[in-house]
Amino acid sequence: MSLPFIDLHCHSTASDGTLAPAEVVRLAVDRGLSALALTDHDTVAGIAEAAAEASRAGLDFLPGIEISAEFPHPGTLHLLGYGIDADNPSLKNLTATLIAGRNNRNPRIIAKLNEMGVHVSMKEWEDEAHGEVMGRPQLAAILERKGYVSSIKQAFDKYIGHGAPAYFDKERLSPKRAIELVRQSGGVAVLAHPIQLRCQNDAQLERIVKDLRDLDLAGIEVIHSDHDAATVEKYDALADRLGLLKTGGSDFHGSNKQDVDLGVANGRRVPRQWFDALREAVAAAAKS
Ligand SMILES: [Zn+2]
Ligand SMILES: [Zn+2]
Repeated sequence: MSLPFIDLHCHSTASDGTLAPAEVVRLAVDRGLSALALTDHDTVAGIAEAAAEASRAGLDFLPGIEISAEFPHPGTLHLLGYGIDADNPSLKNLTATLIAGRNNRNPRIIAKLNEMGVHVSMKEWEDEAHGEVMGRPQLAAILERKGYVSSIKQAFDKYIGHGAPAYFDKERLSPKRAIELVRQSGGVAVLAHPIQLRCQNDAQLERIVKDLRDLDLAGIEVIHSDHDAATVEKYDALADRLGLLKTGGSDFHGSNKQDVDLGVANGRRVPRQWFDALREAVAAAAKS
């Protein structure tokens, strides 16, 4: 008998989710999942809490992180790092670099909003972040609360989303550097939601994934809430063809993404074997 399903992609309050790391773990148990990886953006601040709760609850757990790497507009390239050691000095450097990149961007967003007559301050944003990574969803929540917009979506469309007047990109790592840092931190790197690369065709996608594999990419996220059935099938075949691991997850953010539930990705569940294969790859990577 095979063990129940898993989720290898989710966010907590350590980045832009709405549930605390331990709450995400408890929800995974409630949902009947057998394994979980927490993959907050640019930080491992939630890992210790989640790992402790998982061990109490008897849930298999892998520490993770999600890193936004450089990629030409309009696509985005996110890398998942699994099995990283949260105390590793390379990882501490990595998260400090990522958070600095984000923090350089934030004052520019606030200055632009003020210039547009939207009264919001860095202090309010920091308070909203409660000491965690400052992300745009928190800023959008402030704009909604203050009545500048009627929804989070409108805040992105009108002010802070890509292409809107107060949008500024954060400084990003190159994909090569991001993969290197994940490897140096004892983890393996996986390409998150390849659909978001917005490749023009399958040949382009395959070329990009091959280039990443040459940089030591270990797998691709086959199942994700943004992937429909045909996409899942295509990525599954691609992973087989290129000898890459397959991973999957919901990209759960709590109530910041209300249509996404933990353990379910666009109606699909992630098989347990993918967790076992990933954990083996992590163990092998730690030895190499
Ligand atoms: Zn992502
Ligand atoms: Zn994510």
